Amino acid sequence: MSNYYQPEIETASLEQIREWQNERLVKQIRHVWDNVPYYRKKMEEKGVTPDDVKGVDDLKKLPFITKADLRDAYPYGLLGAPLSDCVRIQSTSGTTGKRVVAFYTQNDIDLWEDCCARAIVAVGGTKEDVCQVAYGYGLFTGGAGLNGGSHKVGCLTLPMSSGNTERQLQFMTDLGSTILCCTPSYALYLAESIHEQGLSDQIKLKAGIFGAEAWSEDMRRDIENKLNIKAYDIYGLTEITGPGVAFECEAQSGMHINEDHFIAEIIDPDTCEVLPEGSKGELVFTCITKEGFPMIRYRTRDICVLTREKCSCGRTHIKMSKPMGRSDDMLIVKGVNVFPSQIETVLIQQGYAANYQIVVDRVNHSDTLEVLVEMTPELFSDSLGKITEMEKSLVAELKTMLGIYAKVKLVAPKSIARSEGKAVRVIDKRKI
Ligand SMILES: [Zn+2]
Repeated sequence: MSNYYQPEIETASLEQIREWQNERLVKQIRHVWDNVPYYRKKMEEKGVTPDDVKGVDDLKKLPFITKADLRDAYPYGLLGAPLSDCVRIQSTSGTTGKRVVAFYTQNDIDLWEDCCARAIVAVGGTKEDVCQVAYGYGLFTGGAGLNGGSHKVGCLTLPMSSGNTERQLQFMTDLGSTILCCTPSYALYLAESIHEQGLSDQIKLKAGIFGAEAWSEDMRRDIENKLNIKAYDIYGLTEITGPGVAFECEAQSGMHINEDHFIAEIIDPDTCEVLPEGSKGELVFTCITKEGFPMIRYRTRDICVLTREKCSCGRTHIKMSKPMGRSDDMLIVKGVNVFPSQIETVLIQQGYAANYQIVVDRVNHSDTLEVLVEMTPELFSDSLGKITEMEKSLVAELKTMLGIYAKVKLVAPKSIARSEGKAVRVIDKRKI
């Protein structure tokens, strides 16, 4: 067993975890106050000083950091260590505004790679394994993080980066890869290529670590069946460190957060009130060991649930559910939280493609929810005389998922307007 299963840390008692968190948080807040003028100003505006923070219970007194702060402070405003002590940057794709540039000291890199190594060990990785890293390398954190983690475990590491499927399959078969790290959609694509090329009996994969995009339990089963492996989730974000902030274990029921490095909170995204464990809300992280880019109460916008219960793997660190959506995507209809991803899950389960449009309106002071669903050409040509039946069945499935009634209208293929190739998912007429 590798050193990177660290039972003294990963199975520590809650009291022990809290002791580490209290001590590290107090030190981190003092450090940030002394070294990050941008955050010190935010603390002063809230009337908080480092003396007010004696442990995790005082976290709620501190101001949040949001994406807007990252933009305002770009590029150096949230730097927590002298630039001369930083050895690397990583950056986000910048699909929603300015890129985030995160700085790492050598110590930050070491701790990040430790977290990724724990994730690899949790899926059964040892120094005997051949770990094929097919996440993108470069500014994106996926490749760099898993690459470092794989080295630490002692796996033979294949730094493939993403794309070039022919080469991926050649190395996978010739070198006998046993662990695959990539996005879930690329894993499915590889699985299909393996079947097409009749390579299934030459594949030695046993596990996959998949993240960096949303994926459902159905997709997990699909990947597991097609590749004959166990598929595990991993979570992270560049602002906090990268992949490995949380990872799945053999139980495959949520991801253990590395609580010796990160404190997680769940808040109500509207009121910012901290919610009790087990509540659904926005995930907030505080980095208690990061030096280069020490985020305090960073609002991830990911909606999920935290649970601390005995896990069959023995780990005691709190588990986060798979993110159920983004707080900026969330709709409130008749007082109920509705995420486009929930509707998408139902459509995929029922054999539809994920081309749909959600229309929310208010009629006689009451919210209405309608889902327009594009049929695939096959469904469309099959649907003659069955449309009402198909719609009724979707209404029932959506009711089970959402808890409220949604009117369903099946529409012809390619009839939902697209902008830049993507369907416009939500039309909220209540705001118009
Ligand atoms: Zn576990």
